[in-house]
Amino acid sequence: MTETPAPEKNWAGNYTYRAEKLHRPTTIEQVQEIVANAASVHVLGSRHSFNETADSLELISLKDLPADVVVDHKSQTVSLGAGMTYGDLARTLNDEGVALHNLASLPHISVAGAVATATHGSGVICGNLATAVAGLEMVTSSGEIIKASRGESDFDGLVVGLGGLGAVTRLTLDVQPAYGVKQQVFEGLSWKALYDHFDEITSCGYSVSIFTRWGQANDQVWVKSRTNEPDQVVGDLFGAVAATVDLHPIVELDPAPCTPQLGRPGLWSDRLPHFRMGYTPSSGQEIQSEYLIPRRHALGAIEALRALADGIRPILLVSEIRRVAADRLWMSTSYENDSVAIHFTWKREPGAVQQMLIQIEHTLAPFEARPHWGKVFHADAAAIAPLYKRHDDFVRLVERLDPRGAFRNSWLKAHVLGER
Ligand SMILES: Cc1cc2nc3c(=O)[nH]c(=O)nc-3n(C[C@H](O)[C@H](O)[C@H](O)COP(=O)(O)OP(=O)(O)OC[C@H]3O[C@@H](n4cnc5c(N)ncnc54)[C@H](O)[C@@H]3O)c2cc1C
Repeated sequence: MTETPAPEKNWAGNYTYRAEKLHRPTTIEQVQEIVANAASVHVLGSRHSFNETADSLELISLKDLPADVVVDHKSQTVSLGAGMTYGDLARTLNDEGVALHNLASLPHISVAGAVATATHGSGVICGNLATAVAGLEMVTSSGEIIKASRGESDFDGLVVGLGGLGAVTRLTLDVQPAYGVKQQVFEGLSWKALYDHFDEITSCGYSVSIFTRWGQANDQVWVKSRTNEPDQVVGDLFGAVAATVDLHPIVELDPAPCTPQLGRPGLWSDRLPHFRMGYTPSSGQEIQSEYLIPRRHALGAIEALRALADGIRPILLVSEIRRVAADRLWMSTSYENDSVAIHFTWKREPGAVQQMLIQIEHTLAPFEARPHWGKVFHADAAAIAPLYKRHDDFVRLVERLDPRGAFRNSWLKAHVLGER
């Protein structure tokens, strides 16, 4: 086991960790010892969150634990060390001829960090990445190991744990036979076409993303289709025209870091993310925010945001609109809601972004918008609680599993638990 100074900043560089040390255990017993002896501790994943959710006095990286990936073809699951990234996991899954149901925009994030914050990709029939969790193992603040499987009591509260329940050391995820995906990008979708055909557009592929800068028309629609299913778009997409070259979602950037487009088929793991492993995803110099809105409110929310476009555009790199299917995970941003996720990749101008978010959250309040846990938002615990039917149950779970409050960092108190 090694102990090093904590990393200075998160991936985007917009957050400076307060933590003093980073433990790097190599065995579960070491994780148990570190957690049981720490007054204030959190697991640090791949540092891709944009807020202080992962911060604490002491941090633990699980990267040095054995990954020990085991595919069980009979139960259609894979179990893995929770510190792994999706990119590394995908390599083994591809060797075994199996696949996950979905991926986020990048493969660089850790599986446990993504699951803890309800990270999602897109797809009308695709739940977020946490919905693939069939089982987990966790070290709680007493140093005890607990194991839980889907269907057991409290399991639905344990999965999207926001880092506040314990250190997740192993996960079991659902897999399915490997599939191919091809992606086609369409340019210039009008707002009228989006409003008139919202469900047809967002379900015209297995995974669909609409990129917009809130201008006269939407910039791009990325349509990712499974190669074993018939093409749903032939010719244009409600007036949006098929691109003839590969594109970056941020129009002025080189598409080299992006996954191949123009309908070229590839593995699920090489097409579902927008960005390739081995390249810097997105812009890097950025801040992200995102709000998940019940489908029934989506068009109203989009229209309300368009009214803020003149304030949004000068500090925005690009927005993305995606679909996420409803689930039963207590603190999931799609709990019981088929959702529309409205995302903002901002320029790294924290002051201006914070100001804009006040306006955005005020505008989105009537639409029951749930902020993405891993991105920048204002809503405090009092505003968050009514958005989650199982919020009280989650608070009780935190108190039961972590009675001494070792995992209760300032972010959890401010945005989820209140001052308990
Ligand atoms: C370029 C970029 C693109 C992104 N794209 C998407 C996207 O497409 N969709 C989307 O939904 N989000 C996206 N995100 C957000 C990102 O997926 C989330 O912030 C995610 O939580 C990051 O995972 P991480 O491993 O970096 O976690 P960290 O930021 O390190 O930690 C996040 C939380 O998870 C907890 N945690 C981590 N590991 C464990 C563990 N083993 N046990 C218990 N708790 C743990 C931490 O304590 C913390 O509370 C993106 C972020 C970036 C930077």
